[in-house]
Amino acid sequence: MAKSLMIVDDSATMRKIIMRTVRMSGLEFDRTEEAGNGKEALEKLQASPVDIVLCDINMPEMSGTEMVKEARKIDCCQATKIIMVSTESAEELINSVMADGANGYITKPFTPEKFQEKLAPFMN
Ligand SMILES: [Mg+2]
Repeated sequence: MAKSLMIVDDSATMRKIIMRTVRMSGLEFDRTEEAGNGKEALEKLQASPVDIVLCDINMPEMSGTEMVKEARKIDCCQATKIIMVSTESAEELINSVMADGANGYITKPFTPEKFQEKLAPFMN
């Protein structure tokens, strides 16, 4: 089934790198969106939901951890799989964002294989 993806990161360069890595992983999406922070992402998701969100943590306006909490309160985002992509690797932070409703966590630097491993379960 065709899937849609949103990449949320405050760095446009990082969004490009993530997009390229997703393509290299062999995963295919029929629609891809981008957002520069959690607030912008939630606005776009409410207008047009996606299946999978790859979400940075440290961002201005609204961080990834805040975004996960907010997304889980919104009807359109209940089924959305949110996978965090961050340089932050503290176990407490990872546990906390997973408890808030994230579906996965990828630490930077990442590889196409890591994207394949973490996203494949949500591609059916
Ligand atoms: Mg950032």
